[in-house]
Amino acid sequence: MNILRTIPEVRAAVHAARHERKTVGLVPTMGAFHEGHLSLMRRAREQNDLVVVSLFVNPTQFGANEDLGAYPRDEARDAALAEAEGVDILFAPAASEIYPDGFATNIHVAGLTDVLDGAARGPRHFDGVATVVTKLFGIVRPDVAYFGQKDAQQVLVVRRVVRDLDLDVRIEACPIVREADGLAMSSRNVYLDADARAQATALNRALDAAASVCEAGERDADSILSAAQRVLAEAGITPEYLELRDASTLETVTRVENDALLAVAARVGAARLIDNHTLKASA
Ligand code: AMP
Repeated sequence: MNILRTIPEVRAAVHAARHERKTVGLVPTMGAFHEGHLSLMRRAREQNDLVVVSLFVNPTQFGANEDLGAYPRDEARDAALAEAEGVDILFAPAASEIYPDGFATNIHVAGLTDVLDGAARGPRHFDGVATVVTKLFGIVRPDVAYFGQKDAQQVLVVRRVVRDLDLDVRIEACPIVREADGLAMSSRNVYLDADARAQATALNRALDAAASVCEAGERDADSILSAAQRVLAEAGITPEYLELRDASTLETVTRVENDALLAVAARVGAARLIDNHTLKASA
């Protein structure tokens, strides 16, 4: 595996692979790898000749009061894990490589970013995501880019950028990887002490409870949400949001007639965690 720091190096490596008619898969990450990240790398490895993983803690997607400074960083460990998955190139640029002096462009996806994490974290979060992902697509020019359904709204935002800007890349969303007790894997789980770690399992249990109610035939959004709310309350968690929205438009739903995204965000101990389930209308 090659660890590359500069855009010209990545372009040259990808250009050489393309010359040999190789397909290129990209996995954008912020590092602190866990099985969720590795599942994306495995999928990319299965489907492509050249696998590029980007490791960049993107400062522009963090709010002023968020955890940019504390975000876990261990490049040597990440590099070993990526190499073990058969990744070809780890692109780990400095911030100045991505945002040189004079950088002035911002990609804003209207509408989709007004709700859920866009509302909770502010519009600049998804602007930061959309802009850096578009840059990574321009640098690597992958055939396929892999994202986790863990960040369901991010997947929708990236798909919309690709559609609206006619980017020639296929977006593949991969399932949420969970710990044995159901907690969605996250780089931020390292912030949880033992008590918070136990409390955090309530997020997935709450989503499961709501999904069971839906599977039993309930279609009313408030009734479905109440089932989740009860589990959170029992665990002493007040969610930042707990919402049921159309799985493709993120419009609010009062009845589950189409696939719906049940999404939660909550502060648990020192971490801000998110999780979601997709409720199938046909279930
Ligand atoms: P991050 O490093 O947190 O920006 O995540 C990089 C990619 O990994 C994103 O596409 C995430 O959605 C994905 N990811 C993070 N956690 C998980 C998980 N538990 N299961 C599946 N994908 C994940």
